[in-house]
Amino acid sequence: MQILFCTSEASPFAKTGGLADVAGSLPEALHEMGCDVRIFMPLYRCVREMSFALEPLGKGATIAIGAHDYHVNLWQRRTPSGIPVYFLEKDEFYDRSFLYGTPVRGDYEDNAERFIAFSLSVRHVCEAAGWFPSIFHLHDWQTGLVAPHFKTNWRYDPRFARSATVFTIHNIAYQGVFPAGFFPLLNLPPSEWSFQGIEYWGQCNFLKAGITYSDFITTVSPRYAREITTGDFGFGLEGVLKERAKSLSGILNGIDTKLWDPRTDRYLPSNYGSYELSGKKTCKAALCKLAGFARDCREFPLIGMIGRLAAQKGFDLLEKIVPELMKLEVNLVILGTGDAWIEESLRAMQSRFADRLKLADRYDEQMAHLIEAGADIFLMPSRYEPCGLNQMYSLRYGTIPVVHATGGLDDSVIDVLRHPDSGTGFKFYEYTPRSFLEKIKSALKLFGDRAKWEEIQRRAMARDFSWAMSAKQYLGVYDKVIAQRRL
Ligand code: ADP
Repeated sequence: MQILFCTSEASPFAKTGGLADVAGSLPEALHEMGCDVRIFMPLYRCVREMSFALEPLGKGATIAIGAHDYHVNLWQRRTPSGIPVYFLEKDEFYDRSFLYGTPVRGDYEDNAERFIAFSLSVRHVCEAAGWFPSIFHLHDWQTGLVAPHFKTNWRYDPRFARSATVFTIHNIAYQGVFPAGFFPLLNLPPSEWSFQGIEYWGQCNFLKAGITYSDFITTVSPRYAREITTGDFGFGLEGVLKERAKSLSGILNGIDTKLWDPRTDRYLPSNYGSYELSGKKTCKAALCKLAGFARDCREFPLIGMIGRLAAQKGFDLLEKIVPELMKLEVNLVILGTGDAWIEESLRAMQSRFADRLKLADRYDEQMAHLIEAGADIFLMPSRYEPCGLNQMYSLRYGTIPVVHATGGLDDSVIDVLRHPDSGTGFKFYEYTPRSFLEKIKSALKLFGDRAKWEEIQRRAMARDFSWAMSAKQYLGVYDKVIAQRRL
C-alpha cells in the first residue's frame, strides 16, 4: 500500500491545530504497519528555520495558475523513522511568519493561489519521486482541489490509473471559499463550474471540491460524520455530504501515547499509573502553585480547562455558570489563548473570583500537561467538536471529563450516569448552561466517594486511544476504495 499524505501542516514541522497531529502521527502508525507512506507539505518559514538539511527532489517544475506560470522547487528529507517528507518551495507563497494569516489582519489575501499552487504540485512530486501511490490522502480545504484535477486533467494519465483519492475533513467550519473570479485560475474544464462541481452559491468552494470529487470521504469521529450531514453542523455543506453518505465515514483520531503518558511524562513533577495514583496528588500541588492558588487549594476539587478561546469551545456556557460554580467550593484553572472577547470575559471573572479562578492566557505545553495530570475534573463543553484531543488526554491521566455529547467527545467518553459499570466521564446532552452545571455537580458528588471515583479513574486510564487502532480503520478505507477502483 502506497499512500501520499497531502497536507498543509504536519507535526513537528508546522502546526496550527489537530490536523498537524493527525498528519504527524497517522503516517507513523501506517509506516509501522508496513505501508509505504510519504508526506507532502509546503516549505513554510518555520520549516526553513528548523535545524536540518533538505535534499533537492528533481529539478523543480512549472505550474500554471490561470495565465501565470510559476516555477517551484521540491525538497525532501526523512523523518527519524524513515518516512520521506516532500516540501514545496515557493517563497513568494510560503516564506511567511504564519501558515494561513496574521492574528491582526486575518487570512492572507492570496490563500487561494497559495493552495492552488500546492494542489497542482502534487502531480509534479510524484513525477520527481518516480512514485505513483495507490492512495492520495487529502486533508481539509487546502488540498481539496487535488480531487477534481485527479478526476479531470490527470484522469487519462496511465501512471495515475490505479490510484484513488481519500479526503479527510478535520473541521467543516473552514471551507476555503473564494469569489467566482478565481475559477479560471484553477485550470479545470469549464464543465466543472456547476453546483454539482466546485460552485457553491456562486463562489468557489475548495472543501466542496474535495467532498464532491474524492473517491471516499472521512472525518475525525463517527458521530461528527453523522452530524455534518445535518443543518445544525454541516455549515451549508450538509446536502452535498448527504449525497455522498455511502462514501463517508468517521474514524476517531488517536493520540500520541508516548508524549501523553502519566507514567513517563517528563513535564510532571511526579509520574503515576492507574494502580499508583499518589503521584497525581503531587501534580495537583504543583498545579495549584503554578496557577497561583492559595495553599489549601489541594483540599478542594480542582477543575481544569484547556483550549483555543473560540466560540466553538463552549465558553458562552462557562461564562453563564461561573457564579454558581464558584459557590461550590471548587477551584477552576483555564489555559488558553484566542478571541479577545472570550479573553476579556474570562479576565473579568478572574478579577471577580480572584482566589478561586485562574486564567493562564498563553500557549504553554508544560502547563497543559500539568493541568491534565493535576486537575481532578476536566471541562470540555464544546458546542461542536469534530474529534477533540484534550478529553482523551484527560481520560489517560485519570482526570475525569465533563463533556457536551457531540462529535468526538460523545464517541470517546462513556457516560458514568447512564453506564455505571463502564462509564469514564460525564456528558450533558442539551447545550444549555443548566445541563452543563448539573453534570459538573454530579461529577463533584461522585468525587466525594473516593472508592467509586478511583474506579472511574482506573477505567478511564485503561482506554486505548493509540493511533494503531485508527490506522487499521484507515487501512480498511484505503483497501475499499482501491477495490472499488479496480471494478
Ligand atoms: P482544536 O484542534 O480544535 O484546537 P483539540 O482538542 O483537537 O482542539 O486540540 C488542541 C490541542 O492544542 C491539544 O493538544 C491542546 O492541549 C493544545 N492546546 C490548546 N490550547 C493550548 C494552550 N493554550 N497551551 C497549550 N496547549 C494548548
